[in-house]
Amino acid sequence: MRGLWLLLLLLLAASSAQRLFVGDQVIRINAESEEQIQLLQALETQEEWELEFWRRPVSTGLPVDVRVPRGSLEPVRSYLLAHDLPFSVLISNLQELLNEEKAEMERNQKLELSTRSINFAAYHTLDTIYSWMDSLVAQHPGLVTKEEVGRSYEGRPMYVLKFSTGSDRPAIWIDTGIHAREWVSQATGVWTANKIATDYGSDASLTSLLNSMDLYLLIVANPDGYVYTHTRDRMWRKTRSVNPGSACRGVDPNRNWDAGFGGPGASTNPCSDSYHGPAAHSEVEVKNVVDLITSHGNFKSFISVHAYSQLLMYPYGYSCSHVPDQPELDSVGRAAAQKLASLYGTSYRVGNICNIIYPASGGSIDWSYDAGIKYSFALELRDTGRYGFLLPASQIVPTASETWLALKHIMEHVRDHPY
Ligand SMILES: [Zn+2]
Repeated sequence: MRGLWLLLLLLLAASSAQRLFVGDQVIRINAESEEQIQLLQALETQEEWELEFWRRPVSTGLPVDVRVPRGSLEPVRSYLLAHDLPFSVLISNLQELLNEEKAEMERNQKLELSTRSINFAAYHTLDTIYSWMDSLVAQHPGLVTKEEVGRSYEGRPMYVLKFSTGSDRPAIWIDTGIHAREWVSQATGVWTANKIATDYGSDASLTSLLNSMDLYLLIVANPDGYVYTHTRDRMWRKTRSVNPGSACRGVDPNRNWDAGFGGPGASTNPCSDSYHGPAAHSEVEVKNVVDLITSHGNFKSFISVHAYSQLLMYPYGYSCSHVPDQPELDSVGRAAAQKLASLYGTSYRVGNICNIIYPASGGSIDWSYDAGIKYSFALELRDTGRYGFLLPASQIVPTASETWLALKHIMEHVRDHPY
């Protein structure tokens, strides 16, 4: 009997433990021919080695980053060597980086307890972000309100911050964190909300913007996934919905929008990180945003913030043909990237999703563009792969500060070009 209890306790402990990545490596492969790209694409559907592609194989111009579990390092190396595929190690032991990130968060929690204020140069849990939102609203009444957009699959509230100084105004949408593990995105959302609130009234351009338009900022667009990255699996990307008939959970919320749904660049496999889901808008997190944007009816810009790769993109992802507004979107994007680079020299590539990365159907900015929101953009923030999704917290404020210059440029353009 005692043995049974012990076994139960062990099982319980194991089921609530955080996933470990001891000895896992992230390697970069530079394919030099179309044939080599195909060799790497074959690995995407190969399940035995349990590879996790951080940047997928698409063309010879772009590196491929992949997390290789410790147990698969040998066969993967042999495969790459046998096919003359050049590779290098970006992260030699993923767990070490994760341990550092966790220790840094714990140090910061103590600091924040003693100073009773949020540190923007740190990553935070959902609870901390949500309670900080309340203090921001309290500090800036008449400018910031917090609205519940709806609930997530697991019942968590989704809060959008609304910056508004009048009624019946056209609006700009910004969301961060739709992919759970892209932590610098949510952290940039937090910094940006504070920046908008504190600069209103002193920054003339932002003030004029907020005197004619409303700004909506959804900082945690995928709350269930975000909580899961903190409690169970730091590498989680998708929602947490149950897929009937499959042991794998979650849908890629950026393949789930009603824009070329189910087309190229989205997977039909519920175990895939880019699974598009059973139907467009099947994910309640997506549906909540669609309903808000549609019922509002006067959004002029829709900006979605991801990480990593340093890209500034516009529609389409589901097709490589140019949208009618391509010349304007391209020039706005290029100017925004220039502003961004002016701060620390961080270099971004600009273009439509399909040509700059790969065809990806069911993406949010394709949906918003087709819904009539001309100024639709997506950003992939720092870095280009040195740390990938595990960008050190010391880079949050520099990342957010440079990104702000790009966001501001886009928003000013929207303000000055009513349509
Ligand atoms: Zn993403």
